[in-house]
Amino acid sequence: MNDRVVVITGGSRGIGRATALAAAARGFKVVVGYASNAEAAQETVSAIEASNGRAIAVKCDVGDEADIIALFEAADKFGTLGALVNNAGIVGPTARVDEMSAERIQRMMAVNVTGSILCAREAVKRLSTRHGGPGGVIINLSSVAAKLGSPNTYVDYAASKGAIDSFTIGLGHEVAGEGIRVAAIRPGLIDTEIHASGGDPDRAHRLSGHVPMQRVGRAEEIANAVVWLMSDEASYVTSAIIDVSGGR
Ligand code: NAP
Repeated sequence: MNDRVVVITGGSRGIGRATALAAAARGFKVVVGYASNAEAAQETVSAIEASNGRAIAVKCDVGDEADIIALFEAADKFGTLGALVNNAGIVGPTARVDEMSAERIQRMMAVNVTGSILCAREAVKRLSTRHGGPGGVIINLSSVAAKLGSPNTYVDYAASKGAIDSFTIGLGHEVAGEGIRVAAIRPGLIDTEIHASGGDPDRAHRLSGHVPMQRVGRAEEIANAVVWLMSDEASYVTSAIIDVSGGR
């Protein structure tokens, strides 16, 4: 896998950024996808280059198919694809289902579900031995919300992550004989800006007392699990979904 390219959607901040740094440290050339924060994406690229790694930043809203196709074309120019990390994801403001607009729900599904499936489509076209590819790995970011359902917070988000779990199982089986492993991580409460983006910056810390380990997680603790799944140490792991959640 050394010298192969990994595409990380939402690699500019949070878990994606930590995964970009960890993957670069393991020899991957990193395509750092981002939605709008070019400065954060460039900072991630600079941090990788400062450690003698290789990375490029590519603007890609995963809610837009044309952006996804352009992201993978940029990756093709950078090198041979070895892995995809479907990390980009959004939450919404705290709301009950009977308060949600159709636009909110459609955007949630477009980014978290359709975007991940379309990115995986582009990755499978390049990785699958059925298409003459070299094989590789696809890692999806789910959430423990898929199991908890997130009532009175964001059931639409939880449902989008439930879809990611089913997608991980099904795609893993579909391409298991074609050199591709597929797995997902279900993070628990991780200290990133996603909570502020949902209008509740203190959410993770406020709920940390409900975590069996009594603390929030760090983005690096998710990244470590992702790069392990990407490595040959996980060579017999596919269609697997791993909780990294302090027991939550
Ligand atoms: P974050 O800190 O909010 O960072 C989000 C990243 O995704 C940024 O790089 C952002 O790019 C990018 N992004 C947002 N919307 C996008 C779009 N439409 N297209 C492409 N990229 C987009 O999030 P995080 O906490 O690291 O979460 C990463 C993943 O882990 C998500 O799938 C999330 O659901 C999952 N997760 C997180 C937690 C947690 O507690 N943090 C728990 C469970 C699961 P810009 O910088 O350009 O805005």
